[in-house]
Amino acid sequence: MSENAHISTHSPDSYRGKQYKGDLKFIEKIDKRVSPKVVFMLYFCPLVACLIAHTLYMVLFAMSGVSGMVIFNLFSVLFYAVMIILAKNVKEKLHLVYASQFEIVIHAVAATVFVGLMPNFCMFLLMIIPLAFLMPNKRKLVPFVVLLTSVPLYGFLNFYYSTSGHALHDLSGTLYQTVFYVINIIVGSFVLIYVATIFSILNSYTEAKIRVQNEQLKIMASTDPLTKLSNRREINRRLSEIHLQSRESGRSFIVGIGDIDNFKKVNDTYGHDMGDVVLASVAKIIGDNLPDNACASRWGGEEFLFVLPDANIEDGRTYADNVISLIGNKIHTHDGTDFSVTMTIGLCEGTSDDSVDHIISCADSRLYKGKHNGKNHTEYSDC
Ligand code: GH3
Ligand code: MG
Ligand code: MG
Repeated sequence: MSENAHISTHSPDSYRGKQYKGDLKFIEKIDKRVSPKVVFMLYFCPLVACLIAHTLYMVLFAMSGVSGMVIFNLFSVLFYAVMIILAKNVKEKLHLVYASQFEIVIHAVAATVFVGLMPNFCMFLLMIIPLAFLMPNKRKLVPFVVLLTSVPLYGFLNFYYSTSGHALHDLSGTLYQTVFYVINIIVGSFVLIYVATIFSILNSYTEAKIRVQNEQLKIMASTDPLTKLSNRREINRRLSEIHLQSRESGRSFIVGIGDIDNFKKVNDTYGHDMGDVVLASVAKIIGDNLPDNACASRWGGEEFLFVLPDANIEDGRTYADNVISLIGNKIHTHDGTDFSVTMTIGLCEGTSDDSVDHIISCADSRLYKGKHNGKNHTEYSDC
């Protein structure tokens, strides 16, 4: 049985199976990918896309004779060329995004003034809003400023040019109007796809991280850090569960308490740190050999309590004798000296008619009987 196998029996929580492992893999995958290079590309690619789009607009405006917008787009191309150079050197890349958002707003307004509503340059006033909210803004007000600037501008332009306003260049009925419209829809779609993809990855990542952290907190709250077995609180919770199950199934269960013999001597002879190593090794033997659905805990200093559900005294003896034999055969080495330890176990068979406290104190008194009867064995009766 693997080390995690006995941990998994501590909790009936279904999350601690496949989904937990899946979450861990997903987090690892994202963490590995999010290198400074990837972060740079997340800024770099949209800036390059803007540069290409403005070059295209510049050519199309030149072809359609809208000279004012040719000059505007020439500045936009230069602006994005500078942004791309800065993206490599500027540490605070967020400023580049703010500058780009500003350019997009001005461009959308200018293009609408020049060629009217139909090519739908106005749309970009709304497209930048989700982008503004996606950015890791340190000032939480920034996306709202973008929203409160863009939406009224969009509303005003729409209202003005669909009622009394006239564009400086009338492209209606020309092929250019359709070409601008199609390009804007394509560029707009890419902006939304880009924002939605990053948003959903970020969202899944955050959710997975919270689930994993919750799980790790649960494990920490229920596990003894030295031995990695359940702690006393967790085993008490499991004991109540098993007691309840026994009422439903009508079957008995076993509670056993094992205590390392003469452990004080181990500490005194080999030091406290070596004592800890021995404790962890004994705990591993106890945990690794548990039957399915059984659980074990560190009950106190060098005492361990285990519960075997649906088991009788014979099942308990089989497990306890095996553990005692494995612990006794395990050789520990300290400064070239080999030694081993032994364990005494007190067993008690319980049913739902007995209280949990009564079953524990029965196992405890048999453990102490075992200590008086020569240690290093299983004590399973009172006679
Ligand atoms: P017995 O056979 O009667 O059980 O004798 P013992 O020496 O094991 O019993 P005693 O209760 O006198 O000593 C238990 C020792 O376990 C004393 C304490 O220092 C040690 N101990 C308790 N917790 C830890 C721990 O976390 N690490 C280490 N290294 N020692 C511990
Ligand atoms: Mg002891
Ligand atoms: Mg003790």
